[in-house]
Amino acid sequence: MKIIMLGAPGAGKGTQAKMLSERYGIPHISTGDIFRANIKNNTELGKKAKSYMDAGALVPDELVVDLVVDRIKNADCMKGFILDGFPRTIPQAEALDYALNNQNEKIDYAINVDVPDENIIERMSGRRACVGCGATYHVVYNPTKAEGVCDQCGQELILRDDDKPETVKKRLDVYHEQTQPLIDHYEKKGALFTVDGTQDIQVVFDTIVKKLG
Ligand code: ADP
Ligand code: AMP
Repeated sequence: MKIIMLGAPGAGKGTQAKMLSERYGIPHISTGDIFRANIKNNTELGKKAKSYMDAGALVPDELVVDLVVDRIKNADCMKGFILDGFPRTIPQAEALDYALNNQNEKIDYAINVDVPDENIIERMSGRRACVGCGATYHVVYNPTKAEGVCDQCGQELILRDDDKPETVKKRLDVYHEQTQPLIDHYEKKGALFTVDGTQDIQVVFDTIVKKLG
């Protein structure tokens, strides 16, 4: 099963992608996580991506497309994958379609997690990310057992720099301009499934699983 997650920054794509990955036994591939790991390890890719990310802009297509196209050729993607945060532009979607088409494959579901802008700022200011394993929580909606400490690996939680309100506003503008057109793109392909992402995390998950089977 080949799945992509669509939706505004903070809509809950990563939260659902992790749960779906466990449920269906297919890898969760987050381009944001890949860039953050590269920044942490001070790689060339990380150095190139950082300034764009800090500004709330998209990293250029040429830095992300080959990375994903190569990643989905790995053996662990044989049964499928969940792409989270990719594609984010029409050229990225076309490059993905082309790569899959060459192997007689296609995206089965584009899951659009729909959350209005007014809910996003609150979501993002309450999001906490683990510096160690990248797990994501929310101070109100998905709290850790012990405050400020990751349930999974025990390391410290932080507010991402790009989750500060001024950057979130910029990221939302970028989303509407460059990523929202993908909803139409996948609707035309008959792959779109939209879920109301303002519902409880478990309700959103159950709704998606009902559709996917
Ligand atoms: P995305 O991957 O789309 O940027 P996340 O999955 O990281 O978004 O979710 C953003 C924040 O909102 C996180 O703090 C997460 O715990 C919280 N969150 C996710 N889904 C829901 C939901 N259905 N209701 C309330 N909060 C949610
Ligand atoms: P995310 O963790 O998905 O919210 O991504 C964090 C940041 O990484 C984004 O604001 C972009 O700067 C960058 N990024 C992640 N995925 C992509 C992508 N597919 N194309 C361009 N930039 C991306």
